[in-house]
Amino acid sequence: MLVHIKELFQGDVVGKFAYPAFNTQNLETTMGIIAAAEELNVPAIIDVSEGAIKYAGLSTIFEIMATLAIKAKVPVALHMDHGKDVEQLRAGIELGFSSVMIDHSADDVAKNIQDTKELVNFAHAEGAWVQGEIGKIRGSEDWVNVSDAEALLTKPSEALEFCKATGVDTLACSVGTVHGIIKIRGGVTPHVDIKRIGEIYNLVKIPLVLHGASGVDENVIHEVISNGIAIINIDTELRIAFSEALRKSLSDQPEEVDPRHILKPVVEAVKQAAIKKLIQFNTRNIVVSSQ
Ligand SMILES: [Zn+2]
Repeated sequence: MLVHIKELFQGDVVGKFAYPAFNTQNLETTMGIIAAAEELNVPAIIDVSEGAIKYAGLSTIFEIMATLAIKAKVPVALHMDHGKDVEQLRAGIELGFSSVMIDHSADDVAKNIQDTKELVNFAHAEGAWVQGEIGKIRGSEDWVNVSDAEALLTKPSEALEFCKATGVDTLACSVGTVHGIIKIRGGVTPHVDIKRIGEIYNLVKIPLVLHGASGVDENVIHEVISNGIAIINIDTELRIAFSEALRKSLSDQPEEVDPRHILKPVVEAVKQAAIKKLIQFNTRNIVVSSQ
């Protein structure tokens, strides 16, 4: 069933487990994510990024996500991730995303606060949640030295000021993780500043969102969850599962020309990768009232 993201945060959530927020780009990835949640009988959050919207079209990808969510046997909430384009975020809210992320973290703090506040006013009037970002979460292409990297991290006092001024419902903060794929393939383990997460959560008291968590050790994941991270975005790991399974499927059956047969093992691979994350983040401990 399609649910508002707020339904996933009723009761005691923060500190106990995190929802993976899985990024999708297409029908097959969305099918794999929902199949994983159904197999474990847990709720799911599905995200779409501006890049995927550019690829598929906003209403097309929304309809794919919403149609599958409505039919799902478990609660599924839909979120628009990393929105820089405010008009598009507004359009997404009007379409029915119950949560959107405005990412104006590259601007100075005052401008980020102003833009985020304006979107929060619009979203709350429409009944939707907004995720803001304060601090700068690096991409794997952003090579900076250690002192520069430190400067990009979210300062707890700044996070509090940002949340008070904007009224965001969830907060993405920069705590040392890095977006993208290179760190996994390069074997670099991101250093996650656990203490900073706890300090931020104790001040802002809203669910914190971890971006760029691919490749982070499982014991570190448990620490970030107990310190206040309640949503962990997952993109790269599903992309790897998708593309590796597709390569294998094509080479295993070189004569096959039916996309449905070629993509069946791909959906299964995405499902298995998503199951791994749902288990890792303790999502099975969730008791959701609407379930
Ligand atoms: Zn992100």
